[in-house]
Amino acid sequence: MPQLPAAFITSVEQVTGFRKEPFLAVHASGEQVTSVRFNPAKKALLEGEWLQQQQQGPLQQVPWCNEAYYLPQRPMFTFDPLLHGGVYYVQEASSMFLQHMLKNTVGTQTAGLKVLDLCAAPGGKSTLLASYFTDGLLVTNEVIKSRSGILVENMTKWGAANVVVTNNDPKDFTALEGYFDVIVVDAPCSGSGLFRRDAAAIEEWSIDNVALCNQRQQRILADILPALKPGGWLIYATCSYSAEEDEQIMDWLMQSFNLHNKAVDVPVEWNVVATQAPQSGATGYRFFPDRVKGEGFFIAAFQQQDGTEFHGRKKMLPPAGKTETKMAAEWVTPGIPLYYFAQQEHVLAIAEQWQEEVALLQKQLYLRKAGVNIGAVKGKDLVPSHELALSLIHHPNLQKITLGPDDALQYLRRKEFAVNIAGKGWTMAVYQGITLGWMKLLPNRVNNYYPTEWRILKD
Ligand code: SAM
Repeated sequence: MPQLPAAFITSVEQVTGFRKEPFLAVHASGEQVTSVRFNPAKKALLEGEWLQQQQQGPLQQVPWCNEAYYLPQRPMFTFDPLLHGGVYYVQEASSMFLQHMLKNTVGTQTAGLKVLDLCAAPGGKSTLLASYFTDGLLVTNEVIKSRSGILVENMTKWGAANVVVTNNDPKDFTALEGYFDVIVVDAPCSGSGLFRRDAAAIEEWSIDNVALCNQRQQRILADILPALKPGGWLIYATCSYSAEEDEQIMDWLMQSFNLHNKAVDVPVEWNVVATQAPQSGATGYRFFPDRVKGEGFFIAAFQQQDGTEFHGRKKMLPPAGKTETKMAAEWVTPGIPLYYFAQQEHVLAIAEQWQEEVALLQKQLYLRKAGVNIGAVKGKDLVPSHELALSLIHHPNLQKITLGPDDALQYLRRKEFAVNIAGKGWTMAVYQGITLGWMKLLPNRVNNYYPTEWRILKD
């Protein structure tokens, strides 16, 4: 690992909780921490003991997050079909503290809440939010177009139907004044918190960049705060140790807006450091790799004290045609109150209660994904979409074939393989109870419909 920049060490020496010797030692040790967070909805479908395969003996849970575990070593995740099926997400442990913040701010009454994850790619926090707000609407946004593709992919694999993925600049949300109940800003930052696992972050670090990040963080927050409802929660996070991006941003927020900062209870044994902003006294939480089993991280919560609730007129989302709706509904679990709408030849579905919101979001933002794409209508047939296979709403009686580990990997490489089974037509490829995607059985071969752009390229 390259040496940590001397200017960096000097700049963080006064930061609350920073201990130079242990910090340097943990960076020099080469120790790496691997953690995963399960998708509660898919874990329930899982047949087989994935976690037991990772190690003998009891697993260590990430203390501040349900469904999250440390692994004793880093497996070759690419070659685990369950990762591609959205059963778990490989996520840095400190950042999972977001769940603890949500429990202690928003609470557990989440029905009907509208949540925005503003800086979302590749989707670590968004998958956590999708599992937390199962009965809310999650808008997950990434401004950089090339990064929004991975966000769509990860949200599709997670399978939640109540998610809209957008590709917009923070200021594009101006028209949604007072709209969101929760806004998460996991801001672009100087990245020092990732020094231990990312040598490039060390090379790229500079004092000037910290200053630039501080300015950009202010701009992003100023652009998005009007979209927060009165009483709504702002969660601000970085993976930087620099006070300019953490405590100073808390002070700037408290001085510039009418916000109430919320301190939360944190068990002492977690070794999370509570830190106070010098001017306002606002509390945030710092994570140091020499204190916790995780990387550097900062998080703080604020409640909006003024503003007005969104009062724009909402319109109905034009529904899909009757025939198309009937065709699509045959592929979906009966009894879910879904609203079907069209996008070119595709039929999409979202929970009925969110259809007007989708119409509104569609008007203001660039939507990359909304609800679940059920499939494309081609003449009298519906060609099912990959999103449907990975979603939690596909009909339980659709034709399936269970693949072993080798065939599952061949499937995910989009290669050919033999299926020794009678049957024809659209069939879901399933591994350990988890759907991976579509195949089409023909009399003498199987067509593999795994999306080309997502296939495993390594052999
Ligand atoms: N929340 C993500 C997760 O947990 O997987 C990580 C987000 S990363 C720390 C910050 C994100 O902000 C990046 O995806 C980056 O492209 C995006 N970003 C960069 N500049 C931005 C800007 N000016 N406004 C909003 N987002 C920006």
